[in-house]
Amino acid sequence: MSDAPIGLISSAASEELLKNRKAERVSTPWGEAEILLGEIAGRQAAVLLRYGTNLTTPSHKINYRANIWAMRELGVDAIISQNAIGSVNTAIRPGDIVVPDDFLDKTKSRPQSLFDDSECWVRVDFTDPFCPALRAELIDAATAVSDRVIERGVFVCTEGPRFETPAEIRAYQMEGGDIVGTPLVPEVIFAREAEICFASIAPVINFGAGMAPAVVHFGPGSMNESYYSDGLHDLIEKVIISAFKGHSPERVCTCRTALDGGFHGSPPEWFRSREKVKAEAL
Ligand SMILES: [Zn+2]
Repeated sequence: MSDAPIGLISSAASEELLKNRKAERVSTPWGEAEILLGEIAGRQAAVLLRYGTNLTTPSHKINYRANIWAMRELGVDAIISQNAIGSVNTAIRPGDIVVPDDFLDKTKSRPQSLFDDSECWVRVDFTDPFCPALRAELIDAATAVSDRVIERGVFVCTEGPRFETPAEIRAYQMEGGDIVGTPLVPEVIFAREAEICFASIAPVINFGAGMAPAVVHFGPGSMNESYYSDGLHDLIEKVIISAFKGHSPERVCTCRTALDGGFHGSPPEWFRSREKVKAEAL
């Protein structure tokens, strides 16, 4: 059985969730990333707080390449991403929990590939944008603690940091979007390029612009406050604990061989395939 830590990307991790934590700074070709190592549900965990410990880094300024590659350097081969999001679908309401199965990329200024600065490039398959095996685990974990789980959804990832306009929300509805948030792309892309399984658990905290009265992000009466005070945050931590308990290192999927035969040109020196890492460890 693999003893690789299970990855979690979130905005916060309570003391009840992540035990025996210690901060680890990991060097990557794109600078250092800070990862919290500890235990969740008795399993080894590597937790990235994507906005920083004090929520000082907005989505469009996150060092996505360093963050995902740091996970890979720590041996992580599965990442659960927690994404508190808005709904653009009237059938998906605040308090629901969505396990998205597809995404629309509406970002504008983010790096496109881990290999952008290299002499090579890759074209990875995104027929299944999220790992099907990890998604199934998240659906099982969520349905164990909530009867408001939506097992599919198209995640519209926007650039931010501003919220969307009503016209944009209408456009996303026409394009088939269900939920909207800012930090999914390129995490989901770089995880695939790093041959790491990746799936998202997305609690709904508000409706998109024009669908309900406007909300503020922080402060009294804000959606951030209601996320914590209404118990949705606690519920999601229960889902994550349940997911860590039920996680199988033996899952069947193609994420961990996503780059096999996919390189155009020679891979950069910093890239080592999973097979090579395994061989070096013997
Ligand atoms: Zn997978």
